[in-house]
Amino acid sequence: MLDVRKIRLILELRESGISDSNVLSAIEKIPREKFIPDNFRNQAYENIALPISDNQTISQPFIVAKMTQLLEINSDHKVLEIGTGSGYQSAILSLLCRRVYTIERIKNLYINSEKIFSKLNITNIVSKHADGNLGWKEQIPFDRIIFTAATSKISNLIFSHITEGGIIVSPIIKNNKQTLIKYKKNNNKINEEEFDTVLFVPNLKDTQ
Ligand code: SAH
Repeated sequence: MLDVRKIRLILELRESGISDSNVLSAIEKIPREKFIPDNFRNQAYENIALPISDNQTISQPFIVAKMTQLLEINSDHKVLEIGTGSGYQSAILSLLCRRVYTIERIKNLYINSEKIFSKLNITNIVSKHADGNLGWKEQIPFDRIIFTAATSKISNLIFSHITEGGIIVSPIIKNNKQTLIKYKKNNNKINEEEFDTVLFVPNLKDTQ
């Protein structure tokens, strides 16, 4: 049953502009139901965000696919994710790049996601429980950075953590609206491009 729904979801993503076949095949391979609480598992392949524990959400598959596509990832890349949440986005990234570093501010989510990665035998994700806005100094530079919680501004510290040619994708809050923004560093300058309107949980600085 899940398989039929999965195929339907992949078609829907294709129709909504997800053309990167590596991204679509990662969505096909990673079992989203494993990242979702039992009572919502039958909706795992609906194109919707779902609640996880601690008042957080697993992002909508379209948004996961869209952000991943915007990141233009290749198999050599070192990627930083700020906001592990369920771990689903990290798992998708892990199939496309060399290593994923992911940071979560809520300890319980950090612990749960690590358990899922090990159950699924994913070995190229390194996680930590911290405020992601501080980056991951010991591991810089990153080729790509993805924020999965909405913030009003990317700090200069985070911009300094990407390589030349590096890309950051984040939901940015502007005029009470969240927009997906892609930043690219070229000759030490940052180019900015705007994409879809989105709805993410807020990026908060304290840890729990
Ligand atoms: N990528 C996730 C989406 C999770 S929602 C998934 O696929 O499920 C965003 C997550 O960001 C939440 O779990 C929230 O606790 C976390 N978060 C918010 N602000 C943060 C910060 N400053 N540092 C680290 N994690 C943060």
